[in-house]
Amino acid sequence: MAILVLGGAGYIGSHTVDRLIENGYDVAVVDNLVTGHKAAINPKARFYEGDVRDKDFMNQVFDKEEIEGVIHFAAFSVVPESMEKPLKYFDNNTGGMISLLEVMNAHNVKKIVFSSTAATYGEPKQIPIKETDPQVPTNPYGESKLAMEKIMHWSDVAYGIKFVALRYFNVAGAKPDGSIGEDHHPETHLVPIILQVAAGERDELTIFGDDYDTPDGTNVRDYVHVLDLADAHILALKYLQAGHDSDAFNLGSSTGFSNKQMLDAARDVTGKPIPAKMGPRRAGDPSTLIAASDKARKILGWKPQFDDVHEIIKTAWNWKETHPKGYDDRKGNQ
Ligand code: NAD
Ligand code: UDP
Repeated sequence: MAILVLGGAGYIGSHTVDRLIENGYDVAVVDNLVTGHKAAINPKARFYEGDVRDKDFMNQVFDKEEIEGVIHFAAFSVVPESMEKPLKYFDNNTGGMISLLEVMNAHNVKKIVFSSTAATYGEPKQIPIKETDPQVPTNPYGESKLAMEKIMHWSDVAYGIKFVALRYFNVAGAKPDGSIGEDHHPETHLVPIILQVAAGERDELTIFGDDYDTPDGTNVRDYVHVLDLADAHILALKYLQAGHDSDAFNLGSSTGFSNKQMLDAARDVTGKPIPAKMGPRRAGDPSTLIAASDKARKILGWKPQFDDVHEIIKTAWNWKETHPKGYDDRKGNQ
């Protein structure tokens, strides 16, 4: 039986495919390469190029493969873009989920692990954020993902499709051997942007706001290493294979680092000066996002290996130094 990974050519998907294969799973990947890279997919996985929303294509994949469960990463995830083009996000993300669940139900596939996000919570009422806290997204990206969670819930009620929603906080880092890593165009995430400055590809970092109600005035975020995240997906699969009920889990380190602290850590790791300036706030940024992640540790048995942002940045820097041009296949990028 195979695990079908949707979006397996993307940043988090490719690391998860790699971990699944290292753990002896048989893996098939579906990806339309809109933001992903074929070169990122472990060659032991069978790759089907196509769109999750294309039901004919998906039915063919499900007919061909004997699929036990699905891991779903295939989505758009750039918050500012979602503010400008909300329908693009609801179409690809939420629309994609509806097509997928229809195909899964038709083929009697009843297990799905889903990439959800801290963005489903919006501006938190309390820190750390618990899974039971209100979900009030402040942007269409978060709203599209919350709708996907709700659609999975009602598909469980009606068709018995069991799901685990993994709500990631800030994901960073790369496989330590430097063979796969993060390569987005344009890049919007803090750690890869800092490392672009360190590598001389950008002149300076702009920190978006230093007048927040945090110890140094800059936003505080909770960073988790991409391989720890990948392992959480394998644990979530095992949880569903053991017959447990649908549920949602936060994935974070439960520790916050400010944007200034991240910059300092990157200067330490790279030995580069990394010029930076203060800029205005970025619309929609909550002041502080820190996960309560004890539920995933207790129920899934998740034990993150990377508990220091220096270590996380070190793996991302290793990828950057060994792949200055990323995967160097600009085709298929937005
Ligand atoms: P990514 O863009 O690198 O990967 C997404 C992959 O899905 C790409 O390979 C893309 O080509 C593919 N894809 C998109 N739409 C598709 C479609 N309709 N059909 C087939 N393939 C499609 O993104 P990522 O950073 O790896 O994020 C993966 C998931 O994790 C996303 O769903 C995102 O919402 C979620 N997430 C990411 C973060 C983060 O910090 N990176 C945080 C929270 C949640
Ligand atoms: N950030 C920044 N400059 C940049 C990119 C990001 O100051 O060029 C800040 C951003 O405002 C947020 C933090 O870095 O406070 C993390 O942003 P990212 O986009 O990586 O993840 P998010 O928290 O939005 O999911």
